[in-house]
Amino acid sequence: MRDQTVEFTDIAEADLMTSRGKFRTVAFRDSADGNEHIALVLGELWQQRDVLVRVHSECVTGDIFSARRCECGDQLGAALDRIVQRGRGVLVYLRGHEGRGIGLVAKVRTHVLQDEQGLDTVDSATSLGLPVDARDFGPAARVLKYLGVRSVELMSNNADKMTALESYGIGISARVPLLIQPTDHNIRYLTAKRDRLGHDLPHLDSVVGGSAGK
Ligand SMILES: [Zn+2]
Repeated sequence: MRDQTVEFTDIAEADLMTSRGKFRTVAFRDSADGNEHIALVLGELWQQRDVLVRVHSECVTGDIFSARRCECGDQLGAALDRIVQRGRGVLVYLRGHEGRGIGLVAKVRTHVLQDEQGLDTVDSATSLGLPVDARDFGPAARVLKYLGVRSVELMSNNADKMTALESYGIGISARVPLLIQPTDHNIRYLTAKRDRLGHDLPHLDSVVGGSAGK
């Protein structure tokens, strides 16, 4: 069953066998942002509550090339593993979210500033006149509604993402932490996400100490 009142510019769905097993893919072009996105669906979700969900922002460097300066690729794999473990859930992969919405070229520009001037992920964006977070989670909310999901257990460390989805009418029954073990390569990035963007990353405390003001 699908909610046909949700309008996409274009949509198609098919089975997709992966290394983790068979998913249902729902590829759609969102009417509002014009991007093509994809949801990987496992099990029947229609009218289901407490569906395990990951809303994942595109990160070409991390997701495809396993870049170590962020934890995106590891989160993507861990989220899919958990969905398979539970036997039901959905991963929504949002395009156009590269670098929290600034785009791939701009993201690589921020890497230069991070490497050469020691700026963190926030200051390297703002010093280029770019927003810290320009992502819109509307497409994820719309596809979850299309799939008939009643409420979600959201795999995320970011309370702002919960607020954003709720603002689009998605009921969130729980937040499920998705903590990736820090490495020498991503610890500065993770610490900035904790201290500057408010992500809940308690596992960093033992590595770099608690965040200021905590
Ligand atoms: Zn990334």
